[in-house]
Amino acid sequence: MLADHTVTALDSWRRLPADQQPAWPDTDALNGVVAELSSYPPLVFAGECDLLRERLARVARGEAFVLQGGDCAETLDAVGAEEVRDKIKTLLQMSAVLTYATSVPVVKIGRIAGQYAKPRSRNTEIRDGVELPVYRGDSVNGLEFTPEARTPDPERLKRVYHASAATLNLIRAFITGGYADLRQVHEWNRDFVASSPIGERYEDLARAIDDALTFLAACGADPREFHSAEFFSSHEALLLDYETALTRTDSRTNRAYDVSAHMIWIGERTRRLDGAHVEFASTVRNPIGVKLGPTTTADEALALIDRLDPEREPGRLTFITRMGRDKVRDVLPELVAKVTGSGAQVVWLCDPMHGNTFEASSGHKTRHFDDVLDEVRGFFEVHRALATHPGGIHIELTGDDVTECVGGGDRIGVGDLHQRYQTACDPRLNRYQSLDLAFQVAELYRA
Ligand code: PEP
Ligand code: MN
Repeated sequence: MLADHTVTALDSWRRLPADQQPAWPDTDALNGVVAELSSYPPLVFAGECDLLRERLARVARGEAFVLQGGDCAETLDAVGAEEVRDKIKTLLQMSAVLTYATSVPVVKIGRIAGQYAKPRSRNTEIRDGVELPVYRGDSVNGLEFTPEARTPDPERLKRVYHASAATLNLIRAFITGGYADLRQVHEWNRDFVASSPIGERYEDLARAIDDALTFLAACGADPREFHSAEFFSSHEALLLDYETALTRTDSRTNRAYDVSAHMIWIGERTRRLDGAHVEFASTVRNPIGVKLGPTTTADEALALIDRLDPEREPGRLTFITRMGRDKVRDVLPELVAKVTGSGAQVVWLCDPMHGNTFEASSGHKTRHFDDVLDEVRGFFEVHRALATHPGGIHIELTGDDVTECVGGGDRIGVGDLHQRYQTACDPRLNRYQSLDLAFQVAELYRA
């Protein structure tokens, strides 16, 4: 039986071209999974999505900063307590650095608890003369290079739902159970990071925060905000069958929300105006992100605003620009100027990862920390010149001590990449590099 949340409007995207969808071998099996998912409880509540929209509205008005980060691709075998804790810890540390240095609230959004589907540039991959379907993320197929693993399996969508639920449960426990208490600011640094120069720099800052808290406590001030944090989830809304199955009508407002995450975004490869992804996003009330690459025209950006934010509501729409360090200063000004000139109040985030990927001589897909930082610098320069608000950063990172990006605080070289190259998709900043970036972004913000 169809529950009332299977509103027909939500299927409007089915009339339109949907890029990057898997070739599921068995449509009946997919439909069975979708029907089951449609009966599952929401992963997030509509009211939480509204709260994030309010927080993002502050960013759109120039009063707050966004830190959005996490894996390029989450994997089903990495939902252990330690992995999740270390990602949260990294984001909390970065957020402490940014909040302290910028004196504005930092809105924390993970690429987590649902980031399991990947758009790809090619449909197949060839190794040693063998051609197999490309890996599309754990919600579709397996990374292992075998015909079995690479065959899309809709049952994975259910595993992704359960993994996302488990991850969110852990995050909520960490955040509300005292782990995100500001008095833990030293505790987040008590591992391999502490002994590094970046860890030491962080320790100085943690001491300053501690002193401030002690002073405030002595004055009798101990506000609730110090004891927990707001943390939101997000992922690319790529697999529209999954996202639709997790869309529900909110009983308070009678509006549809994609309850698989607080915020969803549309990727660079699926943002076409006449496509299914933009249509789907236009039917749900969540905060929406859209990635904008270097070929984006101002007219496209304006048309996206008309489609996704017709009411011009601050906090509804976030443009995540990913131009590349060599293009950001040329391409971004016109987009920002024309969007601002139109009267729209969008949030501008900088994704300095996806325009700066290259293949190292060792064969690893990597990014140089200096390129990442230079794109962020260019992003700040452009916004400063136009007197618009550089609203935040969108980063691929992990809490683990991986060797996937080169440069940064602990000077990883191309020759080191093979040591702990663990990503299922794009290279991530490790803990040191992430903290290093937070310190440098904080300086750019204050400059
Ligand atoms: C991503 O965020 O992992 C991604 C694929 O980005 P983009 O759509 O910007 O290429
Ligand atoms: Mn990526």
